[in-house]
Amino acid sequence: MAITEHPTNNQIPDLTGISRKKSKKKTMRQKPGVKKFVFNPFQENTYVLYEPEGACVIIDPGNNSPEEEEEILSFIRDQHLRPMHILLTHGHLDHVCGAPFFFEKFGLSPKIHPDDLSLYRTVKMQGEMFSFPVADMPDAEKLVMEPLAFGDVTLEVIHMPGHTPGGTAYYDRAYGLLFSGDVLFRGSIGRTDLMGGDYNLLKNSIKTEILEKMDDEVRVFPGHGPETTVGYEALSNPFLDF
Ligand SMILES: [Zn+2]
Ligand SMILES: [Zn+2]
Repeated sequence: MAITEHPTNNQIPDLTGISRKKSKKKTMRQKPGVKKFVFNPFQENTYVLYEPEGACVIIDPGNNSPEEEEEILSFIRDQHLRPMHILLTHGHLDHVCGAPFFFEKFGLSPKIHPDDLSLYRTVKMQGEMFSFPVADMPDAEKLVMEPLAFGDVTLEVIHMPGHTPGGTAYYDRAYGLLFSGDVLFRGSIGRTDLMGGDYNLLKNSIKTEILEKMDDEVRVFPGHGPETTVGYEALSNPFLDF
């Protein structure tokens, strides 16, 4: 008789009485994973946000060498991930220069807020300013400013102008994960002396969209430097003196 991995009927355990607890456990969602890479001469943070079934998004692809491409690609491969979207927090060179690689590999166009589209189109010029050669950029898609779902994860798309006109943060409310781009850092905020920057607008974005709306426990993944939390920044960030 063939050995089967399925139990015969009389081997199925009696779940009467514990079935509610069991089924609850089964349907409980698993936490998405966050993998950070530090790429390019600007030490930019590129994130892969992935859910347990393998769907993922890449936030700010900053890979800029064959080694960096291999680093992120081997992670995607080893974890059996399926990139669904390339999401940009803004149009600065260091956050978008890896987009051609993902367009070529996965056929994904980067998504960016409409107000940063013109900045995105100057990436080659930005590269020349910093003696930083950039490959031809794929056309970007305009972000639709409504929740974006992939697999089991829903990301809220939040406009946070100030560092750039179309600065965007991505927020997983269910798990308290915020990808803040160059808006908010641990102990600092984004610079506003670049084209389209506005100090008051930036502070207002942080105040109204983050500090007043999000819980202290929310983990913040910035575009540069270490991770932080909303509560830590509310208490100790010297720039947030409201
Ligand atoms: Zn920036
Ligand atoms: Zn940056």
